Amino acid sequence: MAKNRNEIAEDRKWDLTSVFDTDQAWDDEYEVVSKELDDAKKLAGHLTDSAASLLATTKIELAIAQRVEKLYVYASMKNDQDTTVAKYQELQAKATALYAKFGETFAFYEPEFMTLTDGELAEFKVEVPELNDFNHFFEKLLSKKAHVLSSAEEALLAGAGEIFGASAETFEILDNADIIFPTIKDSEGNDVQLTHGNYISFMENKVREIRKNAYQALYSIYNQFQNTYAKTLGSNVKVHNFQAKTRKYSSARAAALAENHIPESVFDTLVESVNKHLPLLHRYVNLRKEILGINDLKMYDMYAPLSDLDYKFTYDQAVDKTIDTLKIFGPDYLERVKRSFDERWIDVEENKGKRSGAYSGGSYDTDAFMLLNWHDTLDNLFTLVHEMGHSMHSTFTRENQPYVYGDYSIFLAEIASTTNENILTETLLEEIKDDKTRFAILNHYLDGFRGTVFRQTQFAEFEHDIHEADAAGTVLTSEFLNNLYADLNEKYYGISKEENPEIQYEWARIPHFYYNYYVFQYSTGFAAASYLAEKIVHGTEQDKENYLNYLKAGNSDYPLDVIARAGVDMTNSVYLDEAFKVFETRLTELEELVAKGAHLNG
Ligand SMILES: [Zn+2]
Repeated sequence: MAKNRNEIAEDRKWDLTSVFDTDQAWDDEYEVVSKELDDAKKLAGHLTDSAASLLATTKIELAIAQRVEKLYVYASMKNDQDTTVAKYQELQAKATALYAKFGETFAFYEPEFMTLTDGELAEFKVEVPELNDFNHFFEKLLSKKAHVLSSAEEALLAGAGEIFGASAETFEILDNADIIFPTIKDSEGNDVQLTHGNYISFMENKVREIRKNAYQALYSIYNQFQNTYAKTLGSNVKVHNFQAKTRKYSSARAAALAENHIPESVFDTLVESVNKHLPLLHRYVNLRKEILGINDLKMYDMYAPLSDLDYKFTYDQAVDKTIDTLKIFGPDYLERVKRSFDERWIDVEENKGKRSGAYSGGSYDTDAFMLLNWHDTLDNLFTLVHEMGHSMHSTFTRENQPYVYGDYSIFLAEIASTTNENILTETLLEEIKDDKTRFAILNHYLDGFRGTVFRQTQFAEFEHDIHEADAAGTVLTSEFLNNLYADLNEKYYGISKEENPEIQYEWARIPHFYYNYYVFQYSTGFAAASYLAEKIVHGTEQDKENYLNYLKAGNSDYPLDVIARAGVDMTNSVYLDEAFKVFETRLTELEELVAKGAHLNG
């Protein structure tokens, strides 16, 4: 049973007084920023009047954004630490409204900026050289110019925003509110209502019959509602294709990737390379068969635990381990890691009403706070070094970049966190010699790789296929989606679709298919991290320095250019090949351990 928040030791709670000393200080700042937003309304219509006005308005917009962000993170972190406190629910609601007000106030900025010609902007910069501080920011805006429509057309599209979002919202409501999963038996024989939340713990149950029942119960519902799910997904794909076409992009994928200036070849290279390495996944599946002693392995056996080892870390041990692992990055990095512990950036323990899961956050003007819900497990140790990776990325970026570039894109975010996880894996494997513990660590790594690089690329392939099919005029019926998904799944896992009939409906329950070419970044990020971790552990001082330069670059350049400076060229397949080499080495060791009987009890 979780404690009340006031029963948790102070040193296990984050210290948000460095953000705002008191709630009163937050309220005061809120009033000031609100007033400044009112004043900023008069800036509309004058952005491009002169070079001076462009500079002044840009600076005002960024300065207010910076303050809104700080107000927002304080409110949301206070709310997350105990969501039952009405005071902080209210603060969070006020902060959200302030964000919306900010968006409305500065809605004029982009369209007015787009009216500048390249020549006019160049002249402005000669007149007021300080505008050069914003070169990359302006360049990114201008790169969208060819895809901005007339103001009447833009108004029409903006007005239809809610309608475009309707099928994704319908999916969300259907899947989270209306769908009721059957009641099944848990390991003690009790009746339990199956939910999205407890499904994965059933998949991790050691008893095969329990896994099978949960799996069949879940998919019976997706089978029943497959036509509705096909309609929500199909309509959402139509929205992406329609918007891309309207904005004169060659495809939905080209439009989505243009946001981060990523060439489509990065996506194709990923899919090609993963396909080439599918025999490794088949080897992993065969090993799973052998360890579990199951000849006819089914999709519901894919998450069953392979290791019985109870490998425990207390939080204090995990802190020491984190410091020990991350010292490889050198004194600058380590000093900041230690500071995060000493200055209480981390909210460690679970308490009643606390938001579940883990994250790293904060804003440009605050420390990079972390939220955890600590349990003494190997998984939680990995979570701590993962979030620490995000927090160090944020810290280095915020220290080294002005606010305008003081954040980083999603495409690069997961690289900093998973590099740390990969380094932890390397460190543990270097020091631990006993077979059973190595087995547990290798298993953790291989499952992570399988779930990220292979599974998310499978999703990416499916997502791309259905966008192309719709663009070519194919109707995305449930039958079409089921067949496509079943074939892909058979190709990936090497196990027959006829013997796993339920998996054909899996597409129906994946919320990420509504995110518009999002999932492939998990795979590219993990593979890049795997490659970088190898370079950091076995490479030169220069490799480490290049890596730190990536952490410091923020949004000062396009993501591919930033990561290229860390030594990863994501336009070719070398980084993927290297990541698969690591996977293969570890898979081979696990196979050898299994041959020695390391997975057996006793
Ligand atoms: Zn993360």
